[in-house]
Amino acid sequence: MGSPDDYNAGEWEAGRLKPSHVSELTKRFQQDHELPADGKCGPTTRAVLDLLRGKDRNPVPPTIKTPDIKISADGWMSGSGVAVMPIHASWYYAKLSTVDGNPKAIVAHYTATKHGTAINMARNRGHKLVKGVDREASWHVSIEGDGSILQMAPLLAGCWHAGGKTSKPIPGVGKANYTSVGIELVGYGDFFPEPQVLAACRVWYAIRSRYGIPADLCMITHQELDPTRKADPGKVWMTQHAPRVLTYTGA
Ligand SMILES: [Zn+2]
Repeated sequence: MGSPDDYNAGEWEAGRLKPSHVSELTKRFQQDHELPADGKCGPTTRAVLDLLRGKDRNPVPPTIKTPDIKISADGWMSGSGVAVMPIHASWYYAKLSTVDGNPKAIVAHYTATKHGTAINMARNRGHKLVKGVDREASWHVSIEGDGSILQMAPLLAGCWHAGGKTSKPIPGVGKANYTSVGIELVGYGDFFPEPQVLAACRVWYAIRSRYGIPADLCMITHQELDPTRKADPGKVWMTQHAPRVLTYTGA
């Protein structure tokens, strides 16, 4: 697998490549990233390219209260700075086990990995899960340190982000993996750059407003569900940033 520049050498310049432009290089790039391989640089491909090339970072300031991230009927996000890299369906439950199939809570995590690792974590889940070899963990959305947003599974799927043996259910809702959206903030929990917080505002706002998630279920911490094993998203997030994200969402 080459770098995006290998695929797009000489043809990808911001704004110059039109959606109608079909190329073998783009097709190869799409195949490698599990995108629909039509060879056109449409919005989904463009978002992944921009994410890989460090463009289009979180341009919407948090004071503008517009639901600029859209969520489709089947639970995929789209919008500025949002890239979608679907992981293999064997990494999650096809549906949530809620009454109407919609998520009822949002659980916050950090990845305990370096900034810039979201794409690889998605890529590593692009194949059929091998039990006993792969780490059986998945989540819906990663938010990078630079504010780029990467969705890996539909929001209506049950991802495996808070289901350890010692995990407690979300009070009044049920087990997190069957009822909630898992969002991973990329990093170690000690420092959240401003673009990452702004992106979180937009993602939380979109999900909360789309599914009508109550205020007290918008920012469940992994730590409170599994306190003996987990400390994420941690004190820095919860004291310095989560209040702002919640205010932005109207919670
Ligand atoms: Zn976690």
